[in-house]
Amino acid sequence: MTVRVRFAPAPTGNLHVGGARTALFNWLFARHHDGTFVLRVEDTDPERSKGEYLDSILDALAWLGLYWDEGPGVGGDYGPYMQSARGDIYREHLDRLVAGGYTYDCYCKPEELEAQREEARAGKRAYRYDGRCAKLTDDRVAAYEAEDRRPSVRFRMPRDGILSFDDLIRGTVEVPAEEYDDFIIARPDGTPTYNFVCAVDDVTMAVTHIIRGEDHVSNTPKQTEVLRALGYDPPTYAHLPLLLGPDRSRLSKRHGATSVLEYQKEGFLAVAFVNFLALLGWSYDDAREYFARDELVKYFSLDRVKKSGAVFDVEKLTWMNGTYIRELPAHGLFDKCRPWFARAGYVPGDADEGTVEYAASALALEQEKMKLLSEAPELVKPFFEEPDEYEEKAEKNVRKLEDPAQVFAELADRFDALEPFDAGAIEELIRAYAEESGVGAGKVIHAVRAALSGRTWGPSLFEMVELLGRERCVKRLNEAGERFK
Ligand code: GLU
Repeated sequence: MTVRVRFAPAPTGNLHVGGARTALFNWLFARHHDGTFVLRVEDTDPERSKGEYLDSILDALAWLGLYWDEGPGVGGDYGPYMQSARGDIYREHLDRLVAGGYTYDCYCKPEELEAQREEARAGKRAYRYDGRCAKLTDDRVAAYEAEDRRPSVRFRMPRDGILSFDDLIRGTVEVPAEEYDDFIIARPDGTPTYNFVCAVDDVTMAVTHIIRGEDHVSNTPKQTEVLRALGYDPPTYAHLPLLLGPDRSRLSKRHGATSVLEYQKEGFLAVAFVNFLALLGWSYDDAREYFARDELVKYFSLDRVKKSGAVFDVEKLTWMNGTYIRELPAHGLFDKCRPWFARAGYVPGDADEGTVEYAASALALEQEKMKLLSEAPELVKPFFEEPDEYEEKAEKNVRKLEDPAQVFAELADRFDALEPFDAGAIEELIRAYAEESGVGAGKVIHAVRAALSGRTWGPSLFEMVELLGRERCVKRLNEAGERFK
């Protein structure tokens, strides 16, 4: 059997981290089994579905490298892949259910249903439709029609017994039938509803495994009943554990960004994000944390997905991101950071080779420290901007010198004459000057760093001086000399 899985987002918002985890697990399962990853767009809610949300979901999937084998923009043998274009398929299946006696018309008005719900709330009972339209007499129906009521179509659920399905993660799931009511599968305007269309699509798209979030467990019996009524065997289910915040409550905005593209904007690498998502509920051996994408494909299995909730810990993600950043070759890192360099005005899109080299080298000096790509402009700022404001401590470091102006002037002269102008020679020069002048080497180094960057921190001073180059350094030392006269 060829594995076919699907990711089925509704374009009613951006792709959330939970959706991305679901998409990733489906993708990994498909790749592991040499199967097919289908993208189906559940856009049956015309009011809430928006083209821009679909675009942003597709962008987020592309950022994570979760490309689909069938779906929007790609096509495939089981299309259309937008639910809004599958009306004929739903109509045909609805007709079959109606003809088979699996449904009935319900004439209850929304306000009547709301009143029933309210009554249940007041009595502290879970609301279930009481089936009052299940056996309407012809006269009653005629009377409703005469009132111009439009019926919705309800699916008859079993009245008693146990509804069960097999779940690869949770084992056999059993729910008493009495917890379900006859649910609406088509609204009065004829539009079909989620549980019906989802079930129909899964079989008509020949989906073999349904891998989705735990929040859908309660929908599954409705979908399997619809499928059985249509004469289909339900596919295999696997419900992934909920995502939790570090306080173990359900993941929400309170815990930080929930939209995937926010993480891209904040400077996370897609490889790190994918590695992190893979560990949300799945583990290889409960110990190993780092996996290249092909290793994830090789090792992924639903047997190793846990039932209990998975904690989404941004701190851990950030730390993993730092590890991935450190492993990038300097130019690779620069390429990733390029949009931030462009926005800061440091490296415009049409920058020449020299500027690009300079920026990449500056970044390489800071690579060890970085946890987020977005930190790049702040870290490399001294390479592109002269210090205007000094950090308070940096200023103090300068003032520790008896005569800062004289020290800076002397060093500027010596820098001017230095050959070769490289880190080794620069270090020798500074140490020799400290020795000769009797000012401690530490004091000189701190003061020079302040003069060049206005900071107390940064990369190795000697490497920083080399990269800044003679001209910038001499100019900044002279300016600092003026400033501290
Ligand atoms: N559109 C549904 C959702 O976004 C899909 C559920 C499913 O995978 O069946 O939650």
